[in-house]
Amino acid sequence: MRVSVVGAGLGGLALAQGLRGAGIEADVYERDPGITARFQGYRLVLDPIGFQAVRACLPARWHALLDEIVMHASAEQMVLDPQLNEVGRLGAGRTGVVVDRQVLRHLLLTGLNVHTDAALTGYDVLDDGRARARFARRGPATADLLVGADGVASAVRGVLSPLTVPTDTGVRFVIGRTPLTEEFAALSRAYGSKIAGDGVSLMLGAMRFPTPPKQAAEQLAPEVALPDIGDYVRWAMILPPDGSAGDPTAQDAVLSRMEGWHPQLRALIEQADPDNSALLSIRVVEPSERWAPGPVTLLGDAAHATSPTGGNGANTALRDADLLRRGLIEAAGGRRDLVDAVGGYERQMFAYGAEAVRRSLAALPAFVPDPQRPGPA
Ligand SMILES: Cc1cc2nc3c(=O)[nH]c(=O)nc-3n(C[C@H](O)[C@H](O)[C@H](O)COP(=O)(O)OP(=O)(O)OC[C@H]3O[C@@H](n4cnc5c(N)ncnc54)[C@H](O)[C@@H]3O)c2cc1C
Repeated sequence: MRVSVVGAGLGGLALAQGLRGAGIEADVYERDPGITARFQGYRLVLDPIGFQAVRACLPARWHALLDEIVMHASAEQMVLDPQLNEVGRLGAGRTGVVVDRQVLRHLLLTGLNVHTDAALTGYDVLDDGRARARFARRGPATADLLVGADGVASAVRGVLSPLTVPTDTGVRFVIGRTPLTEEFAALSRAYGSKIAGDGVSLMLGAMRFPTPPKQAAEQLAPEVALPDIGDYVRWAMILPPDGSAGDPTAQDAVLSRMEGWHPQLRALIEQADPDNSALLSIRVVEPSERWAPGPVTLLGDAAHATSPTGGNGANTALRDADLLRRGLIEAAGGRRDLVDAVGGYERQMFAYGAEAVRRSLAALPAFVPDPQRPGPA
């Protein structure tokens, strides 16, 4: 069996790793010109299902390394004012582990056959039941199964399920990260919490590696090369509905809305790496249209993109990867027909994927600032 995976995000790479571990040929096709072509390094909270799924996709010999590069998620979520006084509670936080996306992606990439500069433009289902993917700047690739793991604007979905399109929630946010130094000690109670300002919300989350990732790989799995990064604070500001037009940089968009805030909060944004700060919009993909199972399927955000405020997009993508991996191993072993395995995966994925999108949208209002309500500052 040969599988083509389109998209080298967390979901596609986890699937390819899981198939490789089972001796199934899997090629990954990625649109970016190189693996490190763009910044990919924010922290993610993986719940027990997502963490177990990625673990199951990785060879057992890397499990010790995986455990060494994650930290436990804090369960405390407060609402603070811009001077860091507690003014409310957001409820129980997410349990699980915190992982850096860039670090996890490097672990997942190890040993895989990844073709970069390979943007899928379309595909054909051949008479023999296989799928032939077409790319912008390279020849086609034929496989028994084509998996669209190509994110929220999926080109595979554009052909397979043209009625399923992303919805823009209208919510914009700026995200960035700043090295975690002693200077920011007073901010520690704010990690995992929401700081409610005048028409904006700022979220902070710390990433503290038990062992620096590069060093952990050298000690525990020398064949894995992990990035040389240290502890940091991830910050994200949800903007008021007037967006950020007119702000010269993403950092300016944040700082201009933090007049009079606690000096360490302002310093945190001022000292952020400008290359790793970006303005993003929140788009979701609600899985609705079903198609007959065949040699093409979807995985992760391509099938069900959630709002990041739900914190479940990566978890669901990894769950997909593990579920599909298990079905394909059965098909490769002759215990199940391939189309039946794909259909079984899609039935479950549609149900929990739709639920994940619903939950993420339900969580959105708690993070979006109310422009009518003056902030506590
Ligand atoms: C700020 C932020 C915080 C988040 N926090 C969390 C969290 O705490 N927990 C959580 O579970 N989730 C979180 N998420 C969501 C999570 O990051 C995504 O749901 C997850 O990364 C989706 O993985 P994926 O593999 O489906 O897609 P992606 O990671 O988007 O990967 C898709 C890949 O496909 C490639 N591609 C696109 N088009 C093509 C094409 N035509 N041809 C070839 N390749 C293509 C892209 O370049 C990309 O590499 C967060 C998201 C954001 C933005």
